Amino acid sequence: MSIRVTVWNECRHEKEDEIVGLVYPETIGGAIADGLKDHGFRPTVRTLDDEEQGLSASLLANTDVLIWWGHRYHDEVDDEKVDLVQERVIGGMGLIALHSAHHARVFKRLMGTSCNFAWRESDDGERERLWTIQPGHPIAESVPPYVELPKSEMYGEPFDIPAPDELVFVSWYEGGDVMRSGCVFHRGRGRVFYFAPGHETFPIYRDVHVRRILANAVRYVNQPHAGGWRYDHWARPIPLEQGAPKQTLFKKPRAAARRRSGRNSRTS
Ligand code: ZN
Repeated sequence: MSIRVTVWNECRHEKEDEIVGLVYPETIGGAIADGLKDHGFRPTVRTLDDEEQGLSASLLANTDVLIWWGHRYHDEVDDEKVDLVQERVIGGMGLIALHSAHHARVFKRLMGTSCNFAWRESDDGERERLWTIQPGHPIAESVPPYVELPKSEMYGEPFDIPAPDELVFVSWYEGGDVMRSGCVFHRGRGRVFYFAPGHETFPIYRDVHVRRILANAVRYVNQPHAGGWRYDHWARPIPLEQGAPKQTLFKKPRAAARRRSGRNSRTS
């Protein structure tokens, strides 16, 4: 079965900022989707202003890989949607967080850190050299040793993330900064890929290598056996081995239950 990809993007810069509209007349989400179509995918595109913020429970239940591009309106994403995306990721949905999605609520939730880093947005951009540091990694398939992006926004270290489980790309910028720009994290059953390039005023999502990286990443973060068992809170009072110690004591009622039953002794 083909991988069901949803490209979610704010899609506000394109309407609010003339330059972005000129760089991406097809919208940023549209450009990302076009790149995936080049590689045989048939992505669904949703935006923040769509019904249910473009993140309905039924769409997420039918999404194998969610791509996220957000920037200025992270705070508008409802708690309920953040909870839902997190739940789907730990249940096995792949997530690809792009560029300024480092501050997306869903990404920060999954990382548990500030996700802050250094940045510099010069008007005409600066050169970024994206180094492939794990050539054997599936996300690096058919990607050259380095990719030159002539105009990019600098996103640099220190990047406040947990140590990535897999580091595939590292970037160098003309101004001298460096960045862990292609990181994989495992969360529950799911895989998360953060990819730094992709500022809204430079046509980075039309770069042939960037398009290949995103297509490779979709295949990599996809969970091919999504129907399998889940991590669960499994009580196993009876051990598997005969004669092994059994659980005989069971937990006392929780404090809240005690309070409800009027047996809270804190005030006595
Ligand atoms: Zn940017």
